[in-house]
Amino acid sequence: DSSVCAPLPVLGQDVTVPLVTGGEVTYAALDYAASAPALQRVWDDVAAYAPYYGSVHRGAGYLSQLSTDLFENSRRTVAEFLGCRAEDQVVFTRSTTDSLNLLAAAIPADCQVFVYETEHHASLLPWRNAQVTYLNAPRTPGQAVESLERALADRDPYGPALVCVTGASNVTGELWPVKELAAAAHAHGARIVLDAAQLAPHHPVDIAELDVDWVAFSGHKLYAPFGSGVLAGRADWLQAADPYLAGGGASRKVARRADGGVDVDWHTTAARHEAGSPNVIGVYSIASACKALTEAGFDNLVAREQELVSRVREGLAEVPEVQVLSLFGDDAPRVGVISFVVRGWNSSHFAAALSAEYGIGVRDGLFCAHPLVRTLLGSDPQDPGECGAPEAEPGERSEVGVPPAEGWGRSLNAIRVSFGAGT
Ligand code: PMP
Repeated sequence: DSSVCAPLPVLGQDVTVPLVTGGEVTYAALDYAASAPALQRVWDDVAAYAPYYGSVHRGAGYLSQLSTDLFENSRRTVAEFLGCRAEDQVVFTRSTTDSLNLLAAAIPADCQVFVYETEHHASLLPWRNAQVTYLNAPRTPGQAVESLERALADRDPYGPALVCVTGASNVTGELWPVKELAAAAHAHGARIVLDAAQLAPHHPVDIAELDVDWVAFSGHKLYAPFGSGVLAGRADWLQAADPYLAGGGASRKVARRADGGVDVDWHTTAARHEAGSPNVIGVYSIASACKALTEAGFDNLVAREQELVSRVREGLAEVPEVQVLSLFGDDAPRVGVISFVVRGWNSSHFAAALSAEYGIGVRDGLFCAHPLVRTLLGSDPQDPGECGAPEAEPGERSEVGVPPAEGWGRSLNAIRVSFGAGT
């Protein structure tokens, strides 16, 4: 309970689960950083619309027109939610991973990319075809800005450059100095994309105020269902690039040429990168979640969440065996994501016990941010042998770390508890 404001109703809040020790308990879903439960409001909006849905941009039929309106209004809602500038475009994608891969495919061929080694793999890896500079893990927000400035000062000042940074860590919950990093990038003629997958569910993200060039986020972390995401921002690179997917919807006109080939006139709107029949329900869900969060008021949501963050951290501080993981230190501002290790416990076993014996769902592992978690656990981020087994294959249980030998020992993975507007 909280004295600040009530949680927003979400799906699955009253699910009961059996315990191995007998009986059952109301499940506590505390893995919002993997996927947040959908808001009841989103579910209701989708249920009201679902009987009428049709394919968008596909004809004069009433249902297609209705869906097209909903789809394009959703684009406007997301643009408002992100405080987009008049010249920005909102492209609907499948996820943050998809959004950042789309941008990676659209950057100019000679673009230099600057990315911290601490990024989530979705922002660390898509740039593999570009010339990438990986920045070492900073230990303060100030160091993050300084190391970026140093790296940018060394670059070819005439070529295009892009900085990619996560607004809030999905491992430590810590906030990154996005506005300062954007100013540093722009001062050196570089552009910046914000991975807001973890930030947007917890904080207002204003693209113009932060002065970032692009923002990416996922519906399933923003209290909407899976399958839809957003890339919003400057149109120029996106529209100069080949379509992300080639197909219907991205092309305005297609004609056979006299020489036997095919001429294609691609759209220059967001549709250029949205080929195929779009996920209209997913997109509408994102818009519904954006409206619900705006109406609830981010000030209320942040105040409530910060109260919960303090309570969890105070509780963990009372357990001498617990070590909370942090890059920027205890006082760093953070969202409702807290990772820790427990002395004498293998993290996977600990997380399994929380679920089976207490009905508390948390995540264990390296959280798709292997170099960051390895740095936080004191492993050598450059030595895969030092860092234990890779993350589990789909369908497998995640890695089981070695029991610590003495003292704190060394965990190979961590436990993460995360929550948000529905908690
Ligand atoms: N960036 C961050 C910070 C994330 O937390 C996540 C999801 N855990 C992603 C990117 C990738 O999001 P998705 O899996 O929806 O593509």
